Amino acid sequence: MVAQPAGDASFQVTPGLDRQALERFLVWIRPLQQALSLEADRGFADLQGRKEHFHSFMTRELASPPDIPLPGDVPERLRVLAEGFADYPSHNDADRRRQVTVARQWLHALRQRLEPSAPMAPPRLKVAQPSSTAPGFSGSTPSLDAPLGQVRGIGPKLAERLASLGLLLVRDLLLHYPRDYVDYSALRRIEALVPGETATIVATVRRCHGFTSPRNPNLSIIELHLQDPTGRIKVTRFLAGKRFSNPSYLHGQTRQYPNGATVAVSGLVKDGPYGLSFQDPLVEVMESAQAPLRSSRIGRLLPVYPLTEGLTADRFRALVARVLPAVRLWPEPLPRERRQARQLLSRDKALVAIHQPESSEQLQQARHRLVFDEFLLLQLGLMQRRAALRQRPAPSLRCASDRDGLMGRFLELLPFELTGAQQRVLAEIERDLDRPEPMARLVQGDVGSGKTVVAVAALLKAIQAGWQGAMMAPTEVLAEQHYRSLCTWMPPLHVTVELLTGSTPQKQRRRILADVASGACKILVGTHALLEDPVGFERLGLVVVDEQHRFGVRQRNQLLGKGLQPHLLTMTATPIPRTLALSLHGDLDVSQIDELPPGRTPIKTAMLSGSSRDEAYQLIRDEVNKGQRAYVVLPLVEDSEKMDLRSAVEVHRQLAEEVFPDLHVGLLHGRLASADKQSVIRSFAAGDSQVLVSTTVVEVGVDVPEASVMVIDHADRFGLAQLHQLRGRVGRGAAASHCLLINDSRNPLARQRLEVLVQSTDGFEIAEMDLRLRGPGQVLGTRQSGLPDLALASLADDGSVLEEAREEAADILAQDPELQDHAVLKRLLEEQRSRVTSAAQLN
Ligand code: ADP
Ligand code: MG
Repeated sequence: MVAQPAGDASFQVTPGLDRQALERFLVWIRPLQQALSLEADRGFADLQGRKEHFHSFMTRELASPPDIPLPGDVPERLRVLAEGFADYPSHNDADRRRQVTVARQWLHALRQRLEPSAPMAPPRLKVAQPSSTAPGFSGSTPSLDAPLGQVRGIGPKLAERLASLGLLLVRDLLLHYPRDYVDYSALRRIEALVPGETATIVATVRRCHGFTSPRNPNLSIIELHLQDPTGRIKVTRFLAGKRFSNPSYLHGQTRQYPNGATVAVSGLVKDGPYGLSFQDPLVEVMESAQAPLRSSRIGRLLPVYPLTEGLTADRFRALVARVLPAVRLWPEPLPRERRQARQLLSRDKALVAIHQPESSEQLQQARHRLVFDEFLLLQLGLMQRRAALRQRPAPSLRCASDRDGLMGRFLELLPFELTGAQQRVLAEIERDLDRPEPMARLVQGDVGSGKTVVAVAALLKAIQAGWQGAMMAPTEVLAEQHYRSLCTWMPPLHVTVELLTGSTPQKQRRRILADVASGACKILVGTHALLEDPVGFERLGLVVVDEQHRFGVRQRNQLLGKGLQPHLLTMTATPIPRTLALSLHGDLDVSQIDELPPGRTPIKTAMLSGSSRDEAYQLIRDEVNKGQRAYVVLPLVEDSEKMDLRSAVEVHRQLAEEVFPDLHVGLLHGRLASADKQSVIRSFAAGDSQVLVSTTVVEVGVDVPEASVMVIDHADRFGLAQLHQLRGRVGRGAAASHCLLINDSRNPLARQRLEVLVQSTDGFEIAEMDLRLRGPGQVLGTRQSGLPDLALASLADDGSVLEEAREEAADILAQDPELQDHAVLKRLLEEQRSRVTSAAQLN
C-alpha cells in the first residue's frame, strides 16, 4: 500500500505568520465566527448583545483586524465586508442571510489559509483508500472540515445554497440528520397490503397500457395490472406535461413493462373506488424475483431531510451519499470497552446508518448511539461544572441551636405546622448548609405547596450562624410580596429586612446599600437587579432565587462571578419533568415538595368558548355575592406591550362600566408604577375591589386567599405550565374555587392542550404533557435555558437513554475526572462549552 503524498498544507505554517501572530489572528477571528453562527441560528434578527447589536460588533471588528502580516487582498476585502454590515439593519431577511453567509464562508476560508490545519485534530492517516474508486471523490476522502464547495460535484452555486441552510463543511452535512424516513422496506404480499401504509411488493405484469386523460390533455397515465400468488392490484403512474401525451412516447413507456416481467413497486397504498392501488409509486423492472435491486430507493428506508429548500429530495440524498465516506475520519469519543459494555454502535457506523439505514433495527441502533452521545456530552458538562462549583469553599452554616434559635422560633410562630414534604425538604437543605461546600439545590413544588416558608427558614439558619441572606424574585410585584411577608414574620425575631428594586428611590437605595455592606441589614429582598447592581454584602451566606425558571444559567454564573461563594437555593413552581430536570439541572440537587398543605379544595376547571363569556361573568357575580373575589387575566402578546395595555384597559372599562357597574374592578398591568401596582394589589387583598383585571404580572406569587375565581381570556395563547401557575392563584383558601379557560381558537391542538388542564391538577403531569406537545425549547424559552442543541435527542421520549448516559458520564468522571484519557470527549466538551458560553455572552 502506498501512502498518499502529503502534498497539502497540513504541517506547514503560512510563511510570515509566526506563533504569536497566529494567536492574535485566532483571538480576533473566533468571536467573529461565533457571532455569525449565532446570528444565523437566531434567524438573522440582528442580535442584541450585552453591549451592542450584532451589526455594530461586526462592523467594528471586521474593520480592525490585528496588525499582523495578512495576505494582500485581505484588508480590502475586510473593509468591504465591514461596510456591508453597517447597513445590515436596513436589509431584509434574505439580504441579511446572504450577507451572513458570505461572511461566514469567507472567514472560514481565510482561517483555513492562515491556520496550520487543525492542531487539535487527531493525526490524519494518509493511507490509500480502497474507497477511492467510490463515486464522488477524486482520489481521497475530503476532510471533515473541508468546505462543501471543495467536494467534487458541488459547485459554487450549490455550495452557496447549502451555506444558506447553515451547511458549510463536510461535517455539517454529516450532522444534518434526516427529519424522518419513508419506509419502502416493508415487503408485502398483495393480499396483506393495508391502505395508508408505505410498502413494497414484487409482482408480475399482467397488462400495461398508457393513455392521455380524456379530460386533461396535459396528463398522461400509465396503468400497470400486477399480480402475485396472493392477489391482483392496479398501479397507476401519472405523467404531467404535454410532451408525455405523444403516443409514441407513451408506447415506449409501456414497452418497459412487458407482460410477464417481474417488477418491484414501492409506495403509498391507497384505497380507491376500484380497490387498493399504489399511487405514483417507484417501479423497477427486475431480472427475476430474486435479482438484487438496482434502485437506491425501492425497498429501503428512505431518509427525508429538513429544510432542503431549492433542492430536490433525491438531489440532497445524493449529496449526503457523496460525503458519507468521510465518516471514517470521525473521531470515536467512546473507548471500545465502554461501547461494547453498552452495546453501542461505533460512531462512524451510526452516522452512516442514520443517513442510509439498511433496516429499521439498524436505524434504531444508530439513533440510540447518536442520542447517547448528545446526552453524554450534556451530562459530562454539567457534572464537571458541578464539581468545579463544589471545590470553592463556602461558609458552613452549622450552628448548635438551630431548632431553638431563629429558625425554630420562626416555625413556632407560624399559625400552621409544616407539611411532611416541607419538613423533609427543609432537612435536606439544612444538611447542605452544614457542609463547607456550596449548596446548589433546586426545590420544585407545585403552586401553593409552601416553598416560601421553607426558604425563609433556611435564611434564618444562615443569619443564626452569623451570615446574611438574599432573596431574589423575577418581578417587582413578587419581590414586594415576599418583602411584605417577611415584614410580618421578622419583627418578633428582630431580624432586619430591606427591599431593593428598580424603583427604590436613590436616597433610600444608598442607605440600604450601606446597611447591606456593613452587615446591619440581614436579609435583602429584590429582583434580579440585585445581580446587576454593585451590591456588596458584608457576609453573604445564602441566596434564595424564587421562580428559578425565569433565571437563566447566565444569572447563576453572574452570582458566582461576583466572587461570592454563597449557598444557592432555587425554587420553581414550574415543575420540570424529570428528564428535563436531569438535563437542565444536572448541576443541581433537586428536592420536591410533593404535598399541598391540608384544607385546600381542588380547583374546578372548565373550558368555555368566547361566546359564553357571560357564563363566566355570572360565576364571578355569584362568587362575589358569597364574599369571594375574582381575577380576569389577559394574555401577554409578546413584544407588544402596547397592545396588552390597550386590551387590559379596554376589558377593564367594559367590566367596570357595563358588566359590574356596582362592583369595584381593579386594573393591574406592567406599565403601572410600582407604588400603583402595590396599591391595586393591596386593595384587592383587602377586599376593597372584588374583581381584578390583570395582565400576566399576576402570574407568580400574588397571594389572596379569598380569590376563588380565575377567568383566563384567550387561554389558548398561554403555555400549559403558565396556565397552571395562573390557576394556582386561586384555591389558596378553604372555599371551592373555579378556573375558567376561555378558548377562542378553533385549532384542535389548542383544545387538546387546554383539555389537559381541565383533566389534571397535577403540575408534574401537566409539565410532561406540555413538553410533549410543545417541545423543550418552547417550554423553557429556547436559548435562555442554556441547553446546548440536541439534534436528535428528544427530552420527552429518550428518558431512558438519558439515564444511561448519565450513569456513563458519572462513571467516566469517577475514573478520569479531567478526561485525560478521553481526549476526544474532552475536545468535544470544550467545543460545546464555547458554543454555549458565546451564546450566553451575546445574550
Ligand atoms: P408557593 O409554593 O406557591 O410559593 P407559598 O409559599 O406562597 O406557596 O404558600 C402558599 C400559602 O400557603 C401561603 O399563604 C402560606 O402561608 C401557606 N402555607 C405554607 N405552608 C403551609 C402549611 N404547612 N400549612 C398551611 N398553610 C401553609
Ligand atoms: Mg412562591
